[in-house]
Amino acid sequence: MTKKIITRFAPSPTGYLHIGGLRTALYNYLYARANGGKFLLRIEDTDFKRNKIEATKAILEAFEWTGLDFDGTVEYQSERMEIYKKYIQKLLDEGKAYKCYMSKEELDDLRNEQIARKERPRYDGRYRDFKGTPPAGIDPVIRIKAPTSGTIEFVDGVKGEVKFEVADMIDDFVIARSDKSPIYNFTVVIDDALMGVTDVIRGDDHLSNTPKQIILYNALGFEVPKFYHVAMINGSDGAKLSKRHGATDVMEYKKMGYLPEALLNFLVRLGWSHGDDEIFSMDELKEFFDPNNLSKSASTFNQSKLEWLNQHYIKEASFERLKDELKEFGVNLDPVKHAKLLVDSLRERSTTLVEMANSALNILKAPTTYDQKAYKKFIKPQSIELLEKYSEILGDNDLDTRIYEEITVKFLDENSAKLKDIAQPLRVAITGTSVSPGIFEVMEIIGTTELKNRISNLLEFSKNSSI
Ligand code: GLU
Repeated sequence: MTKKIITRFAPSPTGYLHIGGLRTALYNYLYARANGGKFLLRIEDTDFKRNKIEATKAILEAFEWTGLDFDGTVEYQSERMEIYKKYIQKLLDEGKAYKCYMSKEELDDLRNEQIARKERPRYDGRYRDFKGTPPAGIDPVIRIKAPTSGTIEFVDGVKGEVKFEVADMIDDFVIARSDKSPIYNFTVVIDDALMGVTDVIRGDDHLSNTPKQIILYNALGFEVPKFYHVAMINGSDGAKLSKRHGATDVMEYKKMGYLPEALLNFLVRLGWSHGDDEIFSMDELKEFFDPNNLSKSASTFNQSKLEWLNQHYIKEASFERLKDELKEFGVNLDPVKHAKLLVDSLRERSTTLVEMANSALNILKAPTTYDQKAYKKFIKPQSIELLEKYSEILGDNDLDTRIYEEITVKFLDENSAKLKDIAQPLRVAITGTSVSPGIFEVMEIIGTTELKNRISNLLEFSKNSSI
């Protein structure tokens, strides 16, 4: 039987979920789900205890919005301190770790001497085999007895064979500070091992931590998981993605009117591919995702691609779904008679829910102002005359799109006018702007009484307007 896949996402709670973090979470999630495995969520909050509740809330909120469900309960490192202490003690007892009493001044001196000799600063191992009486007044740090030569090698699922020369980068690194608190490289190894994590997919900014973690796995007698170090996401200028390039907080995308499936589809492709396919449902991703197809090179965050995907998912979404989503943006379609027609006429032309909500409100609410440019361009003496006459033929009954079109065509014929002579002035009257879906659909959505009111408002406005 093959081993059950167990993956995890292990964010440090810094205040919000970064979209790069969501991509890492998604890859781990998909790999577990694709293989009937488990996906765990662990909050690495040993340095951030005070922010624990809020920062975790932000992460969970983003998980809920995107629909990534994890197995079991959230694990908090801050609640596992006793476990870490136990394993530190075990390493001390077995002589695999030791107490180092160097003061900060001594460490600084050592560092400066090494730099003066043009050597790479590193701990010199002076307490590694120390048997004497420790200096008074110093709380020791705990250091691991790392190999002193040779290489640390592993096969990375993304980068292939990776080899680190011990002499170049490893010394007896600290695993617990002088206040006894364990450091990241130690806690992550203990947790991944005890939680049975088989595969670690994470950003390649962690690559240099991996040899240290492998040394710890070996010292503790734990099995080393399979690592996949994913290339970073860059902004359009090639620099690592940051707030400078746009929003990095997942929940900002919700506020900007993106659907979670668009964001996930967008993120999955930043670093992974399946042929030339661009659009994937969650089910397809669960079927196709294979971390061995993760890309070696950094990807570029391309806002217009995200917009394109969002437009696609808005087009595909059900009426009920969009109706619900629009509520979040201040549009309540419950009392709107032609809500479906409204949504269907807008879904084709909306890039985000914000855009869709604004267009819906432009139709549902009588304009309180007119866009100056549109007014100037389309409201002329001839159009005012035409609108006046048009209003008179409308009668009192609500009509459907086709009939509004029929009576308008007839009206234009009788008045030797063209559709363009009335369509834009009508748009200005109805929405205050020169953009809207098909004008006859908009008429059906608001109905005849409201249509006549809006024309009359515009005519009234034109009497007192100098524009
Ligand atoms: N807590 C680490 C971070 O937020 C991740 C640790 C890991 O994935 O190994 O960067």
